[in-house]
Amino acid sequence: MREDSPMEYNRITLAVITKLQAIVGEKYVWTDEEKRIPYGRDEGTFTVPLLPDVVVLPETAEELAAVVALANEAVIPVIPRGTGTGLEGGALVDGRGGILVSTERMNRILEINEEAMYMVVEAGVITETIQKEAGKRGLLYAGDPCSGDSCCIGGNGATNAGGNRAVKYGTTRDQIYALEVVTPTGKIAQLGKRLHKMTAGYPLEKIVVGSEGTLGIITQLTIKLVPLPKATAHVLAVFPSAEQALSLVTALPKAGITPTCLEFMDYDVIEVVGAWLDEKQNCPKGGAYMIIQLDSQSDDGLDDDCVAIDDICHTLGAVEVFMADAEKVWKARKAFTEASAADCPVAAMEDFVVPPDKLLPFMTELKSVGEATGVLFRGVSHAGDGNIHLDLLRKGFTDEADECRRIAAFEDKACEAAYRLGGAISGEHGIGQARKALFEKYTDPVELELMKALKRAWDPKGILNPGKIFD
Ligand SMILES: Cc1cc2nc3c(=O)[nH]c(=O)nc-3n(C[C@H](O)[C@H](O)[C@H](O)COP(=O)(O)OP(=O)(O)OC[C@H]3O[C@@H](n4cnc5c(N)ncnc54)[C@H](O)[C@@H]3O)c2cc1C
Repeated sequence: MREDSPMEYNRITLAVITKLQAIVGEKYVWTDEEKRIPYGRDEGTFTVPLLPDVVVLPETAEELAAVVALANEAVIPVIPRGTGTGLEGGALVDGRGGILVSTERMNRILEINEEAMYMVVEAGVITETIQKEAGKRGLLYAGDPCSGDSCCIGGNGATNAGGNRAVKYGTTRDQIYALEVVTPTGKIAQLGKRLHKMTAGYPLEKIVVGSEGTLGIITQLTIKLVPLPKATAHVLAVFPSAEQALSLVTALPKAGITPTCLEFMDYDVIEVVGAWLDEKQNCPKGGAYMIIQLDSQSDDGLDDDCVAIDDICHTLGAVEVFMADAEKVWKARKAFTEASAADCPVAAMEDFVVPPDKLLPFMTELKSVGEATGVLFRGVSHAGDGNIHLDLLRKGFTDEADECRRIAAFEDKACEAAYRLGGAISGEHGIGQARKALFEKYTDPVELELMKALKRAWDPKGILNPGKIFD
């Protein structure tokens, strides 16, 4: 077999099903099509359901390890799944079938330590539950994907989920001290420690985070908590142009201000969201909003930053800067996905990331790419960390083949621009199976080969989430 050739896998037999039932109990091994259907989709734009051969729901790391050991022995793909809110087909089979392992029964909070500010949780705990439990104790779990009410912490770890607060607190990787992981050969590994510094070998927990279920299945996480901010403020700055709004991205850090969130909405998005919510928006034609959230342990610190932000925004040409109602601004920002889809069907969703100082040149290039390919798009940006989400609209194509060709051309040109500017194809959603061709095309070949070598070393039979990130 060539080093890069796809593995041959075995299909699931009755004998394998019987063994799975012996491990987790008959009740938690699902082969009925009706029960498998929800596991054949995620929240991305895949149109045809990709059904696993069987869905297995272990309750403990030991059960899960036994399932993986069995699959490794029998050379059958294993697809880890949290709650399936992923957008890139990472939690779906890829046409070669396999055992889908759901962590939904592994949903216990095992420890909350208020003194040392950490929590130990199983992979299937819903992210919002963690945030609420921390909040009740005056603590903050800073991971904050917009899907927090429905995704789970294991999925967040596997995708290195970002979200609105990543500007200040970082992504999920920054919230994790340690992981318990089931390896592709079915062993249980303890990776990382609850330490603030450690130079003792490779930080393997950091590699598993963001590996999209290809190196190990996360079963338990030790996560960091911080004191809940005592004061929060939301500033809405209205700019006459997107260019002026985006210049805030570099101006704030240069002034020594680290916002918790810095979100960008351009005129098209503001209009679509306004229509969807039936709320008039006060933005001049062609203008843009910047939502700036700040938090602090004292009102004084916050007041100083708000005064400085007001000054900076006006210097950059803002037509209006005001303290906004938190609920109202977030309602508008979070309505984007639904409002956009209601206005026009979405053909593809993008998640580019560039260095924050390159956001403006990247957006300018995206306009040219749209014009050159005839693809209409709209997007919002976690501007503070250079991450931009685009909806490519299903509008103006002559037929399906025309749509596929022009969307592919847009994605290729946009990707080329992102990488040329020092960026990447995904800031937080991952590669899954949807983006691997472009990922392989634009990633440094030596870096890609090292990733493939790592995968071969961890998973010699290639059973764990095959066909994801790369082939
Ligand atoms: C409305 C909406 C808003 C969103 N907002 C954000 C956002 O702000 N930021 C962001 O980053 N993402 C966002 N997402 C994407 C998605 O919610 C995240 O990627 C999330 O982390 C996925 O978690 P999940 O539990 O649903 O994982 P799944 O979708 O089930 O799985 C995602 C990937 O992780 C793997 N995986 C899942 N659990 C494990 C495990 N225990 N061990 C190993 N691998 C595992 C799967 O194999 C798959 O590759 C959004 C999605 C939607 C629909």
